Amino acid sequence: MIVMKFGGTSVANCEAITRMIGIVRGKLEDRPVVVVSALSKVTDLLYRIADKAAEREKSEADLLLAQLRDRHLKLAEELLSSRPSILREACARVNSLCDDLDAFVAAVCSVGELSQRSKAIIISNGEYLSSNIICCAMNASGIRTNYMDARGFIITDADYLKGEPDMDAIAARVPEAVAAAYVNADAVITQGFVSATADGEPTVLGRGGSDYSASLIGMSVDAERIEIWTDVDGVRTADPRRVDNTRCLDRISFEEAAEMAHFGAKVLHPLTIEPAVRKNIPIYVLNSMNPAGQGTAILQSSFIEDGVKSVSCKENIYVINIFSTKMINTSGFLKKVFEIFSENKVSVDLISTSEANISVTVDSSQNIDRVVERLSDFAEVYVDSDKSQVSVIGKNIISLKGLLEQTFAPLRDCRIYMISQGASYVNISFVVDRTLLDGVVRQIHKYLFETDGENEGRK
Ligand code: ADP
Ligand code: ASP
Ligand code: MG
Repeated sequence: MIVMKFGGTSVANCEAITRMIGIVRGKLEDRPVVVVSALSKVTDLLYRIADKAAEREKSEADLLLAQLRDRHLKLAEELLSSRPSILREACARVNSLCDDLDAFVAAVCSVGELSQRSKAIIISNGEYLSSNIICCAMNASGIRTNYMDARGFIITDADYLKGEPDMDAIAARVPEAVAAAYVNADAVITQGFVSATADGEPTVLGRGGSDYSASLIGMSVDAERIEIWTDVDGVRTADPRRVDNTRCLDRISFEEAAEMAHFGAKVLHPLTIEPAVRKNIPIYVLNSMNPAGQGTAILQSSFIEDGVKSVSCKENIYVINIFSTKMINTSGFLKKVFEIFSENKVSVDLISTSEANISVTVDSSQNIDRVVERLSDFAEVYVDSDKSQVSVIGKNIISLKGLLEQTFAPLRDCRIYMISQGASYVNISFVVDRTLLDGVVRQIHKYLFETDGENEGRK
């Protein structure tokens, strides 16, 4: 069995879905579990609908809801015009989902209050719409495909917008659900991103979470491999939208991929690797627009060469600087500090400490107000915003002679706020002003990957 996940651009329109169905058709012998995202940009649209509902802007919300329905009905027509009965079925499913959503949004507008739970319900509709239409299109194309509702088996805690998976419950439920759906079928399909609590309360896994869904399913069915089909040829030496002349990596280790994803490479959700590692399941990142391409294999470290693999970055982070003389010669200070982060569910990326100061970086998507307030009870706290974090990632890079010197050489004139070299031997990270980010990433990439001769690939 394999898991094949198709992201938003890979199911964006009739042409993309037709191509996607062709890719699945070529793998039917492997018994695919197909996981789909919402159509490209639909989740953003649903977030806007949720915002309008919270602001009680009903007429604006209605306009957006009409766009949502229209796009999906048109897509169904394009895909299924030659199969009237399946088209009717697809349109009925779209209309039923959209009718429910319209009523739900109207209720939120009238109350003027949007809980996280309600927001999770609204934003998960993109995946329900896409998976229903694609299921019909797969059947129309002759692939007998059964539909599964991911809320029956992707079980999380009650953090509605970023549910934490209950691995045991998922591992127990997925095989049963897949086996039941595989009766009289050539393939099965489900939604990425959406999940539920054990009591059936709707949750989602957080932005970009469909990759994570695929990996959780792969872990649970002991998949042979997990394929992440997207809009780039594989994992590259840097984000191709930010840097020219990036190269596709043939293979990287689980650890390298996890660090890249965690430190800003949007190509994979940061938590995708963990479930796959548990069962040592290879992940392939592949381009749905170029299905014949090799893509990138993400494998166990022993198959992977040492060397620098990529430059990743997070464009918008905070540096929280904590000063206290009480830190000197006392035990338990760090514990107290990090308990506050933990209690407020704020996750820390980089840490550096000196005698009377701790600096940490956190992603700006997190709400740090409460953390700063609590820390200020016993320390002086300064928050630097408009900062970016750059990470040079690769297996055993710390053992490469001169790497630090060479990484920082192009940055002679640039102020570096923090440096962190983890004990993992995989990652060197530092913090610069956000305005300098693009220049810094390009210069480092050029030095490490674009100069011919001895620096190339820095192996
Ligand atoms: P999908 O909708 O298929 O999940 P995403 O937009 O989430 O696709 O992820 C693919 C995008 O990730 C690419 O278009 C690319 O811009 C970005 N990206 C960032 N870093 C990297 C990297 N190191 N290698 C490849 N792509 C990257
Ligand atoms: N549709 C969701 C998002 O846009 C999940 C995903 O695409 O992975 O965040
Ligand atoms: Mg994605």
